[in-house]
Amino acid sequence: MKIYKFGGASVKEATGVRNLASIARQTEGRLFIVVSAMGKTTNALEKIVDAFWAGRTGEAVVAMQAVVDYHAGILADLWGEPHLPQRVRGFYEELEEIITVANPATKTYEEWYDRIVSFGELISTAIVSDYLCYDGVGCEWLDMRRLFLTTNRFRDANIDIEASTPRLRRAVELASERIIVGQGFIGATEQGATTTIGREGSDYSAAVAGYILDAESVSIWKDVEGVLNGDPKIFDNVTYIPELTYLDAIELAYSGAQIIHPKTIKPLQNKSIPLYVKCFVNPSLPGSVIKESISKPIEVPILILKKNQTLLSIKPKDYSFILEERMAEIFAIMERRRAKVHLVQNSAISLALCIDSSRYLEEIVADLHESGFEVKYNTEMELLTIRGYTAEDLHRFAEDESVYMTQRSRKVVRILSKKKAFD
Ligand code: ASP
Ligand code: MG
Repeated sequence: MKIYKFGGASVKEATGVRNLASIARQTEGRLFIVVSAMGKTTNALEKIVDAFWAGRTGEAVVAMQAVVDYHAGILADLWGEPHLPQRVRGFYEELEEIITVANPATKTYEEWYDRIVSFGELISTAIVSDYLCYDGVGCEWLDMRRLFLTTNRFRDANIDIEASTPRLRRAVELASERIIVGQGFIGATEQGATTTIGREGSDYSAAVAGYILDAESVSIWKDVEGVLNGDPKIFDNVTYIPELTYLDAIELAYSGAQIIHPKTIKPLQNKSIPLYVKCFVNPSLPGSVIKESISKPIEVPILILKKNQTLLSIKPKDYSFILEERMAEIFAIMERRRAKVHLVQNSAISLALCIDSSRYLEEIVADLHESGFEVKYNTEMELLTIRGYTAEDLHRFAEDESVYMTQRSRKVVRILSKKKAFD
């Protein structure tokens, strides 16, 4: 069994879906295909969530129409005429009913988010599987909400691998087709409420499927040659890295490299399953492989830019010097308010935290105040991580007046700055 994951960018138009079908056709043996929402559908659905939550039904309906039109364009291109798979029609009806009939007050924002945003993957997989059958490849569509059991931490749910194992294995054993198509990013709680596992989480879904099914490999199909040493949209002269260790990959992903989701590596490492990052546009290219050990160390600096960061500067109001004792309290607030912390720096009486920009910033500040801290914050920051930095990199990136903070070890430097320096 092999696992293939196709991200939103690789199925953003009809050409991509055709390409997926041709890659699937050429792959021998059993294949489990994990697909994300097409193109920027997840962002579009997030807009629907916000409009629905705010009671702006008209706006939600218009936003939904844009999602429907976008997929209609892909479908018409694939079939050469307007076409609406039965399953997709059903999802549109469900979504429309939520938007126009449901009362937002009956669930939390996070629950509605998962319920609505999950349609992106449900629709994309329904289209892909319908097309695979139409194209003669044949496949079986699986509803991952029945197979991946998760915690009820909506928007950031964790897959319960143990509980999901018998479900997924059985579904795969029962499948009569060689190829199986399932959604990335989504699952459900024991009570059947739809959950999502965090933005860009489909890689993790693919890794968990690989782990559970003892796959021979997991491949992530992307619109790049393989793993690069920096995002070509941000940095010039990026080069391709043919081999990485699991450890390299974890560090890269943690620093914010968009290439793989940070949670992806652990299940694969646990079973020594190699992870390939393959070029969707040109499948004959070797791509990159991530595995236990590699033949040649990485020689180029790796640059990763995380945007939309907020710097929190936290100080006890009473100037108590024993900040360590209160660290747990501060981090408990971050965890409760779902703030993802990317950089920590402390001095005698202050603690600086760099977090992803959060819709709960006001609540975080209020909680910290209540616990006896003074808080200052700066939004719209950017965190640049350079692994294997050179003196020239330091000169270029760290000696700029927009820099608020740097943190440096022998191998890695992290630079937090204000302005959108690399846009
Ligand atoms: N569609 C989801 C997102 O855009 C999950 C994914 O692409 O991995 O975040
Ligand atoms: Mg995506």
